[in-house]
This record gives sequence, C-alpha cells and structure tokens, in this order.
Amino acid sequence: MRCPFCGHAETKVTDSRLAGEGTQIRRRRECLDCGERFTTYETAELAMPRMVKRDGRREPFDEEKLRRGMMHALEKRPVETELIEAALDRIKSKLLASGERELPAKQVGDWVMEELHELDHVAYIRFASVYLSFEDVNAFRETIERLEKEPTPEMQRDQMPLLDK
Ligand SMILES: [Zn+2]
Repeated sequence: MRCPFCGHAETKVTDSRLAGEGTQIRRRRECLDCGERFTTYETAELAMPRMVKRDGRREPFDEEKLRRGMMHALEKRPVETELIEAALDRIKSKLLASGERELPAKQVGDWVMEELHELDHVAYIRFASVYLSFEDVNAFRETIERLEKEPTPEMQRDQMPLLDK
C-alpha cells in the first residue's frame, strides 16, 4: 500500500501479527522511499456465524428461513411488517455483534422468542409450540396459559399507560 507520508507506492512489511483477539492482523510497514514507519490493521468482513443444530450439524445462517419462521408465526396477526423487519434486524445485529464463528441455533430461537413476546403473544405461543422440544413445552405450559389470557404487550400498554410494560 501507498506510504501515507510521502505517497510512495512501495512499502515493505517488517512485522505481522495477530491482534484484536485474533480477528485482526496488525502489520508494521516501512516506506521504501522516505523510510517512515506505520501500522495497518486488516480485519475480515463481518460474516454471520454458522448455526450449530441440536444434533451438532452445522449450517450457514439462513436469513430467509428466519424470516419465514417469524412470518409463519405472525400469519394473519395485526403486526406491522415494519416492526417485524426491525425485529429481524435486531436479531441479525446480535448475530454479527456476537463475533462468533458458530452459535447454537437455539440462541437464535431464543432471540426470536424474545422478539415475538414483544410483538404478539399469539405469534409467540405459535412459535414456541413449534420451536420448543416437548419437555420444554410442558415446562412452558404455565407461561402459555397465562399469556393466552393476557392481551399482547401493545394493547396492554394502551390500556394501562402507567404500567412500565
Ligand atoms: Zn514514504
């Protein structure tokens, strides 16, 4: 790369090592013309971590699959598409921010559950009953029964403006 001091086209790398917990390469460079030294950092483009399934299989993260899963749970529910897209964006940000190469698919499922819990209780219960294992659903039954009697958070907030949530 060009020398930032004199613009000379050739610099040589004098040292190269891992930095930032191995996510970057730090290079010491020296200009072949003016002799100035400087440092560059090379970072990988952010990539989605791969998904580790319950049985240990690895799969690439599939955004469409995530969207389909959420849309399916939200079918015919009175939730704006914009809110669903915002929820998807938050989940994707969490995936990127994790900085991990792999994450349990269950982690993503839990994030979806959190988002649906905020968006619409019916969708939340629909998703949970598909996503959770049978034992989990049993453990979850009390929550489901309670939520079925409650309105969704949005309606709740409108009706009880003094309540935090
Ligand atoms: Zn130079």
